[in-house]
Amino acid sequence: MEMGLKNRVAVVAASSQGLGRATAEAFAAEGCRLAICARNQQALNAVAEKIRGEYKAEVLAEPFDVTDAGAVRDFVNAVVQKFGGIDICVTNAGGPPAKGFLATTIDEWKRAVDLNFMSAVYFTHAVIPHMQKKRWGRIITITSITTKQPVADLVYSNAVRAAVVGLVKSLANEFGKDGILVNNVGPGYTATDRLKELAHSRSAASGKTEKEIFEGWSADAPLKRLGDPRELADAIVWLASERASYITGQTILVDGGLYKGL
Ligand code: NAD
Repeated sequence: MEMGLKNRVAVVAASSQGLGRATAEAFAAEGCRLAICARNQQALNAVAEKIRGEYKAEVLAEPFDVTDAGAVRDFVNAVVQKFGGIDICVTNAGGPPAKGFLATTIDEWKRAVDLNFMSAVYFTHAVIPHMQKKRWGRIITITSITTKQPVADLVYSNAVRAAVVGLVKSLANEFGKDGILVNNVGPGYTATDRLKELAHSRSAASGKTEKEIFEGWSADAPLKRLGDPRELADAIVWLASERASYITGQTILVDGGLYKGL
């Protein structure tokens, strides 16, 4: 299937590992020019080098924290200066801690809002004017299955990610006239370092081994296994492509069927 993504400029946030990294590599494989970021310069540079070597893609890599609004704006300006515009923006960040409600703290709630909601606001606010100029744009937020179905002990994610869906739907409504499509993807249990962290905290709380936790997650999904980061990345690439040109304002779960609703 021809995706029509060659030479498109794709920004992928929080992309030194896991889902962000897999997404950046998937866009590089389609011939996109890439802008990636994360906090750790060394890890980020290693990813940039690998992408340049393996896919011969142009890559801009800048280390910063996605909760820093000024840094996000500077990054977007640097992308436009280097590549002449922005076509695709994938928002992403690390996940919040796993807790039940009474173990949460006010400071952590504010941090979760900054990390998992405001970071998406910063990126979308900065990129949309550039997409309007081209009358073409794709914004895809990476959130979680928690946008459809709350997960026990992930109360920060269950609450804060709903705001991202509200943002996505609002932006889809407001900027469809400019050729900008805005969608959300919600991963189920996908094999990344984040999932190892979650297994660790679940294991400590439940007394089960991490192996048992992983087996339980796999058993919960009709496909009876964890997701591979590349499977989420492929869905994002498709949403960004010319092949998904009449889809906007949607949440698409890539969860092996884990979501139990209709
Ligand atoms: P991960 O921890 O493996 O990777 C997170 C990436 O974000 C890393 O590159 C890290 O350096 C970067 N990052 C974290 N905080 C940052 C910050 N403040 N500024 C800049 N970069 C930052 O996580 P992942 O599994 O790839 O998950 C990505 C997102 O998807 C998370 O929000 C996670 O909660 C969510 N999610 C993951 C799963 C899963 O099973 N993996 C399931 C549902 C939701």
